[in-house]
Amino acid sequence: MTLAGESAAPPKKARTAAKPLVVVVEDEAPLTTLLSYNLEREGYRVSMARDGEEALLIVDEERPDLILLDWMLPQISGIEVCRRLRARADTRNLPIIMLTARGEEADRIRGLDTGADDYITKPFSMTELFARIRAVMRRIRPALADDVVRAGEIQLDRAAHRVRRGGRDVHLGPTEFRLLDHLIQYPGRVFSREQLLDAVWGSDVYVEVRTVDVHIGRLRKALNKKGENDPIRTVRSAGYAFDETFEAP
Ligand code: CA
Repeated sequence: MTLAGESAAPPKKARTAAKPLVVVVEDEAPLTTLLSYNLEREGYRVSMARDGEEALLIVDEERPDLILLDWMLPQISGIEVCRRLRARADTRNLPIIMLTARGEEADRIRGLDTGADDYITKPFSMTELFARIRAVMRRIRPALADDVVRAGEIQLDRAAHRVRRGGRDVHLGPTEFRLLDHLIQYPGRVFSREQLLDAVWGSDVYVEVRTVDVHIGRLRKALNKKGENDPIRTVRSAGYAFDETFEAP
């Protein structure tokens, strides 16, 4: 295992925090291919699972933003996967859209009872699917649905890769940009340094944990001019959070 120092950090694999990760849980190969192709084209990252067991593993490892969950799966059913995710504190609010076959009306109702956010009946059009995904995203994580995220007087534009505070441009390096983008999506939620490394640097890159502190320092320096409130909260022995009470000074 090698430690990459601050200046000698290896080139990062393309991992933009701006792209939501969707896990497709479906055992029909032609449908998974079609879904992943279209989702990627629409600007999502995609992971695929062919059964419920694999789905639960992927959720643990990759912390997706949304799950498209087929009802009929080998071994653990989609509904059981949904139930298990809802029973866990860390996945209780994870958006889930169930895929059901036509005519399974009772199943649909049961699906929503179990905690799915929405369902869509096969066969469906991609237009319909993306409309449902956007609606669920907007409802559950407003920040993920839009290119421009605002918090107080801070404005982060993912499309333009630009941050403004009040009337001025804030110049951030790519890592600081991704850090802010990640934190601002979950106001009030505390992330450990390890979680931030995974989310911002990627889990396949080995970087020292204290590197996070260095980049948080740079982010603060760029973001906060004299007399301005610091939107980044340091939580002792826990990590960092975007202050949910942050407003303009
Ligand atoms: Ca199936």
